[in-house]
Amino acid sequence: MSSDNKKKLSFATRAVHAGYDSANNEGSLNPPIYMTSTYAFDNVAQGAARFAGEEKGHFYSRISNPTQEILETRLANLEEGEAALATASGMGAITATLWTLVAPGDQVLVDKTLYGCTFSFMEHGLKKFGVDICYADFTDPTEVARNLTDKTKVVYFETPVNPNMRVIDIPVVSSLVKAYNPDIKVMVDNTYCTPALQRPLTMGADLVVHSATKYLGGHGDLIAGAVVGDAETIQQIRLFGLKDMTGAVISPMTVFLILRGIKTLQLRMERHCQNAQAIAEMLDAHPAVDKVFFPGLKNDPWHAVAAKQMDAFGGMMALELKGGYEAGVRMLNKLKLAKLAVSLGDAETLIEHPASMTHGVYTSEERGEHGISEGLVRISAGLEAVEDIIADLEQALVG
Ligand SMILES: *Cc1c(COP(=O)(O)O)cnc(C)c1O
Repeated sequence: MSSDNKKKLSFATRAVHAGYDSANNEGSLNPPIYMTSTYAFDNVAQGAARFAGEEKGHFYSRISNPTQEILETRLANLEEGEAALATASGMGAITATLWTLVAPGDQVLVDKTLYGCTFSFMEHGLKKFGVDICYADFTDPTEVARNLTDKTKVVYFETPVNPNMRVIDIPVVSSLVKAYNPDIKVMVDNTYCTPALQRPLTMGADLVVHSATKYLGGHGDLIAGAVVGDAETIQQIRLFGLKDMTGAVISPMTVFLILRGIKTLQLRMERHCQNAQAIAEMLDAHPAVDKVFFPGLKNDPWHAVAAKQMDAFGGMMALELKGGYEAGVRMLNKLKLAKLAVSLGDAETLIEHPASMTHGVYTSEERGEHGISEGLVRISAGLEAVEDIIADLEQALVG
């Protein structure tokens, strides 16, 4: 089956098959794990041609590996992009991409709320090397337009935003950036949705990055990442950002686990979304809860934008309790079934406190400026029976 034919198959089918043909692999239904660092050449000319990029084929596993290539083909297919690069972590994908795209004097325009380590890379990494980082509230497209300059190289955001669940309109932001200058790269962190729920490349974005640690792997047993986009840019990221700048190479063992995880991605996302909706509705009606941030609630300010660009509302939410930070700590310490842990997208329901955990690299003053409140609690709805999750949350909210 050619990859073109596979494009026409439905998402769930492509998630099982795209990029792999057992007929080319001894009939093995699951892909071989190529544990190799290097590849033997037939002769000197072939080695030279591979290094020069004149002949297709692998030459060293810091650049590419056959098992990794299967995952990259599958991810490109699911995100509807030309090519993908799998990396050792989400931060590996984000940093390899940005090191490749920007130089001193350039500006990167980013949404005001970012995953903690992404914020740290922008603020303490790129800035140190002379890149101007400009923050704007991307939920207001006029703020994006107002901050574009002739130095802007990349426009970067997450949606829904980790951890405060704001939703950014991908087609609106992409089209206004492209109208200003088609060479600016629009880069979207699609970790919260996965391509099962949202495909930014079909809405005008140029590049999608993932923490595959989360829903793509789906079982909390690995760290990995990916970037998807046009073939030329992905090749530049592979041959510079990955090969020379970060060396953030994914292990073929990890690739195998992600390929296994992706086979059930759509099934899992359906349950994550259903459970999150029921949990959010319970919390929204609960007397101890001040606010619930979940785009699936009809009263959520981002409900309409989310409904337009997401196939379902996702498995992530955040809340604030009436008793503020202290009430949040009491609740987290009383959980029995849900785990007090960072990360997200696992089978287990995971709950954490962003200000002291995932977003602790922001100072408290920065958290105020960037829209992360001190009492916010983040929930990743797991795959357990929803009545058991709800019962655990209810007992933790009492008192
Ligand atoms: C976890 C996460 C990252 C970083 O990914 P790692 O795999 O932990 O390096 C980036 N963006 C978002 C939205 C995340 O949740």
